[in-house]
Amino acid sequence: MTGLKIHQDKCVGCGLCVKTCAADALAIQNKKAVVNEACFLCGMCLDSCPFKAISIEKQAAPKEDLSAYHGIWIYAEQQQGKILQVAYELLGKGQELAKQKGCKLTALLFGNDVANEAQSLIAYGADEVLLCEHPLLDTQIGENYIDLFDQLIQERKPEILLFGATGFGRSIAPRIAARRQTGLTADCTILEIDPVKGLLNQTRPAFGGNLMATIICPNHRPQMATVRPGIMQVQPCDVTHTGEIIRVDYPDQDASKTASIELLEQVIAAHVNTIVDADIIISAGKGIGSQKNMELVKRLAELMGGVVGVSRPLVDIGWSEYQNQVGQTGSTVSPKLLITFGISGAIQHLAGIGGAKTIIAVNTDPEAPIFSVAHYKVVADCVEILKHMIANLEALPENGLLIEESKDKLS
Ligand code: FAD
Repeated sequence: MTGLKIHQDKCVGCGLCVKTCAADALAIQNKKAVVNEACFLCGMCLDSCPFKAISIEKQAAPKEDLSAYHGIWIYAEQQQGKILQVAYELLGKGQELAKQKGCKLTALLFGNDVANEAQSLIAYGADEVLLCEHPLLDTQIGENYIDLFDQLIQERKPEILLFGATGFGRSIAPRIAARRQTGLTADCTILEIDPVKGLLNQTRPAFGGNLMATIICPNHRPQMATVRPGIMQVQPCDVTHTGEIIRVDYPDQDASKTASIELLEQVIAAHVNTIVDADIIISAGKGIGSQKNMELVKRLAELMGGVVGVSRPLVDIGWSEYQNQVGQTGSTVSPKLLITFGISGAIQHLAGIGGAKTIIAVNTDPEAPIFSVAHYKVVADCVEILKHMIANLEALPENGLLIEESKDKLS
């Protein structure tokens, strides 16, 4: 069995391990360390013991025939019967991976009364949809989903399983991975099939975004990953694409599991125009110079029908809200147009803008890293450019000024 083992012959009861344990899982009894059920195998005590009296015993997982696993699955998360955008993004990436693997792309659609959404998953690339409808799937209580995933994985053996890194996706994916004793890479930004080994290369920022780590899962299945919304590209809708909709049964419910969770109230956040789903983002960085100049950024966003984005330092110094922060520790955005003013293009910032279709960057430094990803480069003072753009847009007829001018001329 997997667990912490105290080697009685080596333990001298010094208690150093007890002091190290953050979970209060160790105590000294009869001059020997003993472990209780609070231990979660973090391993801190191993290093603290100078007598090498503690080890973690791992039970080797039984060898499984990995060749039995085929196909790529994506979880098509829905809320209130509407499929989330990230599901279509996963289908876009899934199509590419399935083509490389020469396998089927399957979408999992779970909910209550959601069948009418299945066809759209096929139009966006799914070769089949596993559809499960049940009243217990009406709300996002993770416990009601885990057995269903577990049962389907055991029965149908997918090779790869992808989730959107939404609140719900992040909550259920680790539990499913733990059940299946497989790995899970969270918040991937790149997914590729290794051309030689056929494994899923799961790449994500690591060590504070200073490097990109590629993680593989060679010995367990399915290979599981979550992907942040806004990173992958949605492929065009093809209504001629055909696929199969397969109804699957909800597993026999263990009453004790559902009875322990009671949903008291569900509050759906009001939809606000956020940077995550904006088509146009006017983004400012430290080069903007002052809080007063943020008014120019807001005005330009207003005139262009966009929203304001910022780099992290502007949030840190209180010139903008966290909800506007773009980047690794902010939001990942995929607007049609992104204009950056005085943003250098640090790696942590670039991690959030890979999905932007067109990037125009304004910076006084011709060597600024942001220019390496920009489609249009403007080497200039960003405040001057802002004022110039605002003046030009305000002068357009629909913004009143020219109309007033014309009226004046007519009278
Ligand atoms: P700077 O790097 O200081 O760049 C200012 C730019 O403005 C310069 O290129 C300069 O040439 C230009 N400039 C100056 N004056 C003018 C002018 N008058 N006109 C035009 N250009 C001008 N950052 C994020 O943005 N998002 C994140 O999510 C994020 N997460 C992070 C997570 C971690 C763990 C760490 C360690 C850092 C993170 N950062 C993040 C911070 C990141 O490393 C950078 O420090 C930050 O992105 C820099 O912001 P900036 O480009 O506004 O400022």
